[in-house]
Amino acid sequence: MERTKPLRDIRSLSIEDLSELTSELGQPAFRAKQLKEWIFEKNVCSFDEMTNLPKAFREQLSERFSFNTPVEIAKQVSKDGSRKYLLQFSDGTSVETVGMPSRNKLAVCISSQAGCSMGCAFCATGLAGLTCSLTAQEMVDQVLHVAHDFGERVTSVVFMGQGEPFMNFDNVVDALRMLNAPGGLEIGARHLTVSTCGIIPGIKRFAELPEQFTLAISLHSAVQSTRNKLMPGVKKYTLPRLHEAIQQYVEKTGRRPTYEYAMIDGVNDNNPEMEALIEFCTGTLCHVNLIQLNDIPDSPLKPSPMEKVETLQRRLTMYGVETTVRHSRGGDIDAACGQLKQRRNSAKKIILPNA
Ligand code: SF4
Repeated sequence: MERTKPLRDIRSLSIEDLSELTSELGQPAFRAKQLKEWIFEKNVCSFDEMTNLPKAFREQLSERFSFNTPVEIAKQVSKDGSRKYLLQFSDGTSVETVGMPSRNKLAVCISSQAGCSMGCAFCATGLAGLTCSLTAQEMVDQVLHVAHDFGERVTSVVFMGQGEPFMNFDNVVDALRMLNAPGGLEIGARHLTVSTCGIIPGIKRFAELPEQFTLAISLHSAVQSTRNKLMPGVKKYTLPRLHEAIQQYVEKTGRRPTYEYAMIDGVNDNNPEMEALIEFCTGTLCHVNLIQLNDIPDSPLKPSPMEKVETLQRRLTMYGVETTVRHSRGGDIDAACGQLKQRRNSAKKIILPNA
């Protein structure tokens, strides 16, 4: 989809660009350093906040550049403290972002695309299709928005919201580097996790990165026919090829990937499914996160009962596979990916005249 361009975001300028700009506007060289500090270290969102710059200079800047920070168009706050946002960028594109606080920590789940082309059967976003990929700055802006809203430092980020990060690989890597950069948000590389549904070329490229970013794979079934139904977008990346690519990733990086496994009643929680998962994981370096599927209204897919989740955890542990049962955050809000946006859109439809 064609996106209309607003004034250029000043945050897209490099340090060299800022130096050129300040000299072009007749300012002394130290102004470039001040600008850099405001933009990349203090993460301000307006020229007015740059209080040590002359007013005339700030006005010149605002005529040519802007801060295209997203606008919060909806927010839900859960009893467990997590907050889900629907954020809209200057071109009207909107995405979901979640902030999840826990003792002295603040984790953020961001979107890498608006919508998604992968079509996973259990995902409200997948059912709606892809709108567009986000820029690196738009991903970082989601993190900044949550940091400002909580008034706290963000300690970890997962790229697990809307979109398949490896379908937007270069921008995702730029965003990871911006989040990790010294002098900025300085989030440790190991606390930056990219979650893919199994795009093999992306896994291979990710393995080549020098940074210690973390890889998570949405597996959800180790039985090919079940996985094809649940995740049709990655049908061509078959389980044996995926397994091989992950082992190559482990050999190359020495890092432990995580498998996400959302347990769905009567779909991937029976005995053959459990055995297939055990076989997929046994003897490899990995960590399995089991979670009950989020309940999406009107979806025929329902969460597995907790006993099944605990049984699978016990069985995996018996085979030496490290396994954690994750508890879904924000159970009382539209926590599943795409739900808030969908609700907001249907609410809009209701109030449209003659809709
Ligand atoms: S689960 Fe992730 S990859 Fe699958 S459709 Fe939803 S957003 Fe896309």
